[in-house]
Amino acid sequence: MIARLFLHIKMGNIHATSTLAAAPICPKCHQRTTHDITRASNRTGNAGRPYYKCLPCDKFQCFDDDRGNDPRNPRCLCQVASRQQVAGPGKPIPRGLHYVCRSGKCNFYTVRRDEHEQQITVSEDVVEMLAKLNVI
Ligand SMILES: [Zn+2]
Ligand SMILES: [Zn+2]
Repeated sequence: MIARLFLHIKMGNIHATSTLAAAPICPKCHQRTTHDITRASNRTGNAGRPYYKCLPCDKFQCFDDDRGNDPRNPRCLCQVASRQQVAGPGKPIPRGLHYVCRSGKCNFYTVRRDEHEQQITVSEDVVEMLAKLNVI
């Protein structure tokens, strides 16, 4: 599984795409979201990461960087390539790879599966490296 990911990286999984031009609108309350940076003490692999959140809803909207963005990812309901993310260590499937709407405008969510239809997970020791490579 790890080997597969490395292969994918070598084949050119890293694409620089622009970050969002403006703060996205919250799909729930239709207010413009607010920019913030995750805490440096964040232990889920997302330390110091720019993101948008809706203050009235107190809800995370989306990250504001290129991590996990790949034009080959499945399209979300907005008809643009989704963003690949990794679940935190405390989730039901820890470190499971999944795709979400890159701007948080729709509620698209799908897990990344291997050829046996099992969700692909990454081991804890490579999370930081994959994040640095913008894969997740
Ligand atoms: Zn809202
Ligand atoms: Zn979307």
